Amino acid sequence: MKDITCKLLVIGAGPGGYVCAIRAGQLGIDTMIVEMTKAGGTCLNVGCIPSKAIIHAADEFAAAVGMAAGRNPMGIGAADPAIDFGKTIAWKDGITGRLSMGVVNLLKKAGVKALVGRARFRDGKTVEVETETGLQVVRCENVVIATGSTPVELPVLPFGGNVISSTEALSLTEMPKSLAVVGAGYIGLELGTAFAKLGSKVTIVEAQERILPLYDSALTQPVAKRMAALGIEVLTKTSVKALSPDGDGLVVEHNGGDRRILADKILVTVGRRPVTEGWGREELELDMEGRFIRIDGQCRTSMRGIYAIGDVTGEPMLAHRAMAQGEMVAEIVAGKRRSWEKVAIPAVCFTDPEIVSVGLAPEEARRAGHETKVGQFPFAANGRAMTLASEDGFVRVVARADNHLVLGIQAVGAGISELSAAFALALEMGARLEDIAGTIHAHPTQSEAFAEASLKALGHALHI
Ligand code: FAD
Repeated sequence: MKDITCKLLVIGAGPGGYVCAIRAGQLGIDTMIVEMTKAGGTCLNVGCIPSKAIIHAADEFAAAVGMAAGRNPMGIGAADPAIDFGKTIAWKDGITGRLSMGVVNLLKKAGVKALVGRARFRDGKTVEVETETGLQVVRCENVVIATGSTPVELPVLPFGGNVISSTEALSLTEMPKSLAVVGAGYIGLELGTAFAKLGSKVTIVEAQERILPLYDSALTQPVAKRMAALGIEVLTKTSVKALSPDGDGLVVEHNGGDRRILADKILVTVGRRPVTEGWGREELELDMEGRFIRIDGQCRTSMRGIYAIGDVTGEPMLAHRAMAQGEMVAEIVAGKRRSWEKVAIPAVCFTDPEIVSVGLAPEEARRAGHETKVGQFPFAANGRAMTLASEDGFVRVVARADNHLVLGIQAVGAGISELSAAFALALEMGARLEDIAGTIHAHPTQSEAFAEASLKALGHALHI
């Protein structure tokens, strides 16, 4: 095959890589993207999108089951709700298929050349791609490594058979009657809660003292309460020892003794590992930072002309961080002055209720040496939350005590993910408590709790 040349080669078409390539194409850069599986990467095919589809289906089903059981506070009843899980999965696949095709079309529209195959560096300016029809050599001035991440495997529970990762969990053809989830981070809790709502008996095993250890317990408490109400058993301070000898579940160490957990499927969600192997890193001299590729404020690696973006570059491993980095790198390659400031990257757990965090939590602010004012407003005092029958949770605003500059916002509540943009905007624009309190928030909306939390920090909340 004849060698191909381009100005920019992007390896990996996840949210980082495809956004980078689209923006580069829009800017008139001769760009090529290589992907070995499907356009859209983890996020679109086996991550963000399919998980939220399953979560939504589970919510709908749980609501119907609640109605049938007479647990609907609005007096709505239903008879015999049923779910055809095969149809649910087909619906989810339809969404991911459409979105993946959409990415292919957006790349085409931006004039980006695309190759399907596994890329591997020969040297810093040459990459070979193993395609179906043979080895294609690509020579380029700049390369963006956007190879993403994969699920971490536990040595005592290797993937295979009944031991599955989130990827397989999102494509099960039959609902497991019982499910053990190992790891109570956001992926484990999102999927564990969804399967519990769909009818599985779910047990969650976590080595640390509590669920979602990255968040403070005020934020996680409503989630723990809801999981308990759904019948999910959560075993904290519990470590996995082995698969049970009969192959029907797990043996864990809990409270100083062994305990057996029966499970048709064992979902391991103990974190994700950056993909730093399999693309010829050994041919390069890239500095690493722990398990990630070291980058500077412009996503440059230690090698000239080589950039890295997304999950392969560090935490938080989130799609919107990858996309923001991808867009920035394309503009830098086009000669624009851009740099990366990661003050306002919202993190959302699509648990029940949802959790949003952006910027510093109170404890983090104190540790960073700030004197703070903190205001918290509960949804139990918010009219809209009452009309939605979702009164659990709150919005909390953390600001500097001296000039009231907002340092962080956290919230837990039903559907609160949609407020993450308002929170991030406040931080990004350098808002003060008075700016948020002085913004007219529509009534009745849950967003009023944001203004009230700011007023509370200023010492004069109106509705509590
Ligand atoms: P990826 O999306 O991992 O894409 C990397 C791509 O590179 C892959 O398609 C891979 O095939 C390709 N590749 C790797 N090596 C090569 C090679 N040698 N040659 C060619 N191609 C290669 N994030 C959120 O922000 N919100 C969420 O709600 C959310 N939910 C999630 C739920 C689940 C179940 C999971 C697993 C993840 C979730 N994430 C979520 C995380 C999100 O998916 C990742 O942060 C995001 O996909 C990272 O994007 P990326 O571009 O860095 O890499």
